[in-house]
Amino acid sequence: MHATDPGLRQSVDSRVRGLCAHRLARAAGRLGRRLGGGLRPEGVPSPAAPVGAVLARGASQDGLPEGKGLRWWGWGTLDRTYPLGDRPGFWPFLDARIGPLDDQLRPVTPLSEIGLPPPRLPPEVLSALRQAVGPDHVSTEHLDRVTHALGKSYPDLIRLRRGEIEHPPDAVISPGSEGEVAAVLRIAGQARVAVVPFGGGTSVVGGLEPVTGPDHVGAISLDLRRLNRLVSVDPASRLAVAEPGMRGPELEAALNTHGFTLGHFPQSWEFSTLGGWIATRAAGHASTAYGKIEDLVVSLRVVTPAGTLVTRTTPASAAGPDLDQLLIGSEGVYGVITQATLRVHPVPEVQDFRALVFRRFQDGLSAIREMLQKGIVPSTVRLSDPFETQGYMALRRVPASRAKRLWDRLGQVVLKGAGYDLRAACLMILGIEGTAEEVKATRREALRVCRGRGAFHLGESAGRAWYRERFDLPYLRDVLLDHGVMVDTLETATTWDNLPHLYARVHQALVGAIQSTGARPWVMCHLSHAYREGASLYYTFLARQTPSREIEQWRVVKQAATEAIMAGGGSLSHHHGVGQDHARWLGREDSEAGVAALRAVKQVLDPAGIMNPGKLFTH
Ligand SMILES: Cc1cc2nc3c(=O)[nH]c(=O)nc-3n(C[C@H](O)[C@H](O)[C@H](O)COP(=O)(O)OP(=O)(O)OC[C@H]3O[C@@H](n4cnc5c(N)ncnc54)[C@H](O)[C@@H]3O)c2cc1C
Repeated sequence: MHATDPGLRQSVDSRVRGLCAHRLARAAGRLGRRLGGGLRPEGVPSPAAPVGAVLARGASQDGLPEGKGLRWWGWGTLDRTYPLGDRPGFWPFLDARIGPLDDQLRPVTPLSEIGLPPPRLPPEVLSALRQAVGPDHVSTEHLDRVTHALGKSYPDLIRLRRGEIEHPPDAVISPGSEGEVAAVLRIAGQARVAVVPFGGGTSVVGGLEPVTGPDHVGAISLDLRRLNRLVSVDPASRLAVAEPGMRGPELEAALNTHGFTLGHFPQSWEFSTLGGWIATRAAGHASTAYGKIEDLVVSLRVVTPAGTLVTRTTPASAAGPDLDQLLIGSEGVYGVITQATLRVHPVPEVQDFRALVFRRFQDGLSAIREMLQKGIVPSTVRLSDPFETQGYMALRRVPASRAKRLWDRLGQVVLKGAGYDLRAACLMILGIEGTAEEVKATRREALRVCRGRGAFHLGESAGRAWYRERFDLPYLRDVLLDHGVMVDTLETATTWDNLPHLYARVHQALVGAIQSTGARPWVMCHLSHAYREGASLYYTFLARQTPSREIEQWRVVKQAATEAIMAGGGSLSHHHGVGQDHARWLGREDSEAGVAALRAVKQVLDPAGIMNPGKLFTH
């Protein structure tokens, strides 16, 4: 049965109507779990959340179509969720791994009950800001301050849900041009107001909290959504110039009308922005072929407190160190990216997604390494470890028809018969893009390599299902948070020779750390992006939350995992960035002399230290 089935929802609604808030939460939780879903009446995250207010403000604030308000305490839009009703394997699977969950839904503090410290900006500063960007684009409203106070990391969401917002911005400023950005930085510099560039607000490393030091009189969030134009396209050079506030779908649609794609599809694509991707060195599922965002940027315009940096649009340059690469990943601490020139590619004629199963993780790793080193480059190649593969199996929908159910069972029998132990098997998603001939040739070669390593080819439907649902999984995180589950992800990258060791080391660190908090762990991993010389590993961990100590519990786990990554020779981050959460490890990545050099650049570009304090570098 489907949890969003209209008839079912109606009966649920009538059952819950009239119950007091506390009983409603318990009833929805029990009923939801019995149905196998994270069920709650749609758009009602918790008994008392002020959905109406969010819908109304979210719609106007974010330029989303009516009724598509943002879930400020979680992911995405209110009209979407992750229904588990037709995935009956999931809750029993999770209970068996991390222990049974209680029926109590964890509430979200209503917006109206979130207390914020009063805005600190002196009236003359506010009035100068209003003059600079227009009075409609300076907000000190409660909702704007709440929605710009944090990002979307696990600890951010815990704090948002609890209504514990220690450092909201004093105002949210939305400039409409590069000139206005420069004017805002001038005012902020003179008044010693911290400035936090804000793109889509999807940071998962604490990149957005407007923390201030003793020298700051306040903090503003600089929301770049109004800088959202595709400025130009040069088809001859295959370049496009775009502003930083464009979200994924906007930018892609605009490029598609010219026959081009950026090929950059992070899982946060629907809500994150070009400026945020560049500021964090983001990666998307197709980055193995198209490159990470740093490979796609040709030149930049960046407004800093010391002036505007403009780099040249040329295919290559030997004029000293690469300034673009210094600015990419600077997380708003040097200045504000106001324009980028990007490499674009023709929209692929064919996209071919399929799935394979390997007997062991190592076999899949060897196949990917062989492919990349032979120059066989899929756009997407993801290899799940056995734990994640089991998680995928548990999340499978019940096949709709009897014939499909039989076919499904037959598939499992064939796999077992062919010697694949489903507890050890590893799922690979393989995506290939290009012209029909290119796709055909790459597919043939890629499948040959994979079969050589013992892969079983599952065909297209599992690959296509992954592609269809690739932006849905983040909605499951909110369901899990509702049910008191700690769920977070972290990622790293290393060379092929070190990859199996790092994989095991981080897995063990996560398991040990979660156990030390008294919880039972479920730790999963997949190889998310591959290179000729190595690959990235992306972990997801789940455990029951330690009630009232959720953030402390998370810190224990995060600390242990990051230590394991650094000691094990991995990168501090492959694509999430540094933010506040990783800042104290940056010296281990870049060496202390390297961090001193990066700090010296900040001293030159931002002498008053107003740009995004506390990110990238520790205070
Ligand atoms: C569910 C989920 C899935 C995710 N999937 C991926 C993924 O697949 N790949 C990936 O790489 N990341 C992923 N992320 C992380 C996040 O989406 C990325 O870091 C993204 O690049 C942030 O973009 P944003 O527009 O939301 O930036 P924000 O979160 O608003 O900002 C991120 C940082 O960049 C700075 N910044 C933003 N805009 C500018 C600008 N114009 N100039 C200067 N600084 C700026 C901010 O101050 C902040 O420090 C995911 C996050 C979530 C919650």
